[in-house]
Amino acid sequence: MACVSFPYDAPVSQTLFDRASLVTPGGVNSPVRAFRAVGGTPRFMVSGAGPYLTDADGREYVDLVCSWGPMILGHSHPEVIAAVQEAVARGTSFGTPGEGEVALAEEIVARIEPVEQVRLVSSGTEATMSAIRLARGFTGRAKVVKFAGCYHGHVDALLAAAGSGVATFGLPDTPGVTGAQAGDTIVLPYNDLEAVRAAFAAHPGEIACVITEASPGNMGVVPPLDGFNAGLKELCAEGGALYISDEVMTGFRTSKAGWFGIDGVRPDLMTFGKVMGGGFPAAAFGGRADVMAHLAPVGPVYQAGTLSGNPIATAAGLAQLRLLDDAAYAKVDAVSAEIRSLVSEAFTKEGVAHTVSAASNMFSVFFTEQPVRDYEDAKKQEAFRFTAFFHSMLSQGVYLPPSAFESWFVSTAHDTQAVERIAAALPAAARAASEATA
Ligand code: PLP
Repeated sequence: MACVSFPYDAPVSQTLFDRASLVTPGGVNSPVRAFRAVGGTPRFMVSGAGPYLTDADGREYVDLVCSWGPMILGHSHPEVIAAVQEAVARGTSFGTPGEGEVALAEEIVARIEPVEQVRLVSSGTEATMSAIRLARGFTGRAKVVKFAGCYHGHVDALLAAAGSGVATFGLPDTPGVTGAQAGDTIVLPYNDLEAVRAAFAAHPGEIACVITEASPGNMGVVPPLDGFNAGLKELCAEGGALYISDEVMTGFRTSKAGWFGIDGVRPDLMTFGKVMGGGFPAAAFGGRADVMAHLAPVGPVYQAGTLSGNPIATAAGLAQLRLLDDAAYAKVDAVSAEIRSLVSEAFTKEGVAHTVSAASNMFSVFFTEQPVRDYEDAKKQEAFRFTAFFHSMLSQGVYLPPSAFESWFVSTAHDTQAVERIAAALPAAARAASEATA
């Protein structure tokens, strides 16, 4: 890790972190929150309003993480909060069907044309795990193709060469995942259709599905090359496998119909999470009705959840989705473009080799000028520069994802004032990046 000093302190966060570390492994409930890739004290947040987060020490930050994607309307949006308060006043969980989950499923089906039927779950991990099980049950095949650097949650079979936190920690294989669990996973380089073609040729009649992030954001933002997703779809169709597009991150964020709304490639199954839960644990998988008909209770593939379709989560998700019209996406796209150009300008001024890589309004910075098309390319960047950049931004009140391998997220609430605060912090942070040493 680069040698970075932390000239600012966060005593209340530090005390909370010390307490947390006694009772929770690493003091966090999701590894990347621990700041291990960048060092320093993770900030314990106490409130969020619009584009801002406030930490336990009373400092305010412009939030460029947005809870890792979900908060596309900013924090504490009054209409989402009102929907939640209304729902919570009626009770928190019934363990029965309810109208909220029907309405949320209808909203998803209406927005995303390839989704004929959808099943609600509580996390993106559950969505991809269930979609893979369904693909295996439907095809009667075992093998799953995934791409290095794509993260699909901590599903055993998919924790091979996963990006995100796994990329951050450089864990090649996760202890606890057995050879049997990962043995049917074929990991290929991203954006490499030839490798997919070769895998189908080497395993005829064995591949149940190809799962890919619709546009990856877990090795930094690395969009699919033109024709990559369409090629995957075609190879899957030829090989009798299902094409699963993981839109947990891109869904309802990159456009009204997610990445499908951008490239129009029709998957057999899709997975969703993040934005559709409005900040609550709601996720989903869905797609072709004939495939979904293999799920219990209609079909033999078992899948269930005590809190699936939870009334509070569905109320929040529905309220958020209903506010996400064309104008909202135009706003998020515009603020994303503005911040990207400010970031690039600041690095250029300081002579820092960089690429701002974007997929719709998702973006990240690679500290390289070489093209980044896959995970191997992403790992070649000078990630140590990110550490210095991150801490300078944090000390100036801008909260970035604490890893060079994560997407940055913005919201409709990122207004001129928030952008000005980012702009004011960038020159010193770019200078820190330029002066950083490995
Ligand atoms: N799929 C993708 C593309 C993701 O980015 C993530 C989480 O970041 C997941 C799946 C897992 O979702 P969750 O963290 O809700 O389990």
